[in-house]
Amino acid sequence: MTPPDRQSFPIPRIGNEQTLNRMAEKRGDEEWVKGRLGDSRSRFLLLADLSVAVESTPDRSTTRLRWYTSDQVKDLGIALEDALLLGCDSDDIAVFAVSLSPAEATRVPGGGDTLKPLVDLRSLAMQEALPPTDLSLAGAARALAAWHATTKCCGRCGGHTRSKDAGWRRRCWACGQEFFPRADPAIIVLITDGERCLLGHHKRYAHSFYSTLAGFVEPGEDIEACVRREMREETGIEIGNVTYLASQPWPFPHLLMVGCWAEALTTALTLEEEELHDARWFTRAEVKQMLAGAHPDGFTVPGSHSIAYALIKSFVDQR
Ligand SMILES: [Zn+2]
Repeated sequence: MTPPDRQSFPIPRIGNEQTLNRMAEKRGDEEWVKGRLGDSRSRFLLLADLSVAVESTPDRSTTRLRWYTSDQVKDLGIALEDALLLGCDSDDIAVFAVSLSPAEATRVPGGGDTLKPLVDLRSLAMQEALPPTDLSLAGAARALAAWHATTKCCGRCGGHTRSKDAGWRRRCWACGQEFFPRADPAIIVLITDGERCLLGHHKRYAHSFYSTLAGFVEPGEDIEACVRREMREETGIEIGNVTYLASQPWPFPHLLMVGCWAEALTTALTLEEEELHDARWFTRAEVKQMLAGAHPDGFTVPGSHSIAYALIKSFVDQR
């Protein structure tokens, strides 16, 4: 079994659109950040309880991120000091996100209604309702905002932490401990025995939805060992070669999905039923039908926004 060529592997879209220069060297420059926060050209994305402010046509056929100027954000009574710098675009315009807690959102003039429509990014991603660049920007903003929302207190002394470096560091006011935004590695795996691939149906998925299997990397574990352990736990299958193909940031809350091909040494399934409702081996012909939405049993696979789709498609395309 030869895994697909990594160079020709289709790049999934969330977070991989290189739309912004992240400006890492400027984050700690308080004067620069202050200047950009007050710059009338700067753009601000608003999140409330991690939902994203968007604008859409009345029939909802087109949805785009809703951008605010710094004056518009201030008019809503929202302080800019904790704005998160996403980067600068090709015209050197700074792009920020401002994340409001549910309580802060209700204090905006007009209450939370002023910010509507606010949408769940995961649903938008699943429906492929946002342009890829918008999805990428909102994904980065959501991942960073989710980290801030759960890092308000110091894990060392319990003191309050404050945002620094335009959102890329938090520091405890009491003991000085510093915290940096994190991305949690998770594996997502296309298991194949050469002729077929193994796809699973999760309890939380819609009835006919099958996807690649996934799991979290544990401390002290490398990617290959994680793939072998998780796949054995979930399906009972022993894995031989593991090949890394591509990765995709997945902002729910701040994962880095590490996409791999895995060679099955055994094929008999023993499912971990708490996690998986079903898993089965599919031939290339069947998977092709699923990708086309034409499987006779109505089985479907994830949409093209996802690394799961890219992995599944690479199996179909493999010669
Ligand atoms: Zn502390």
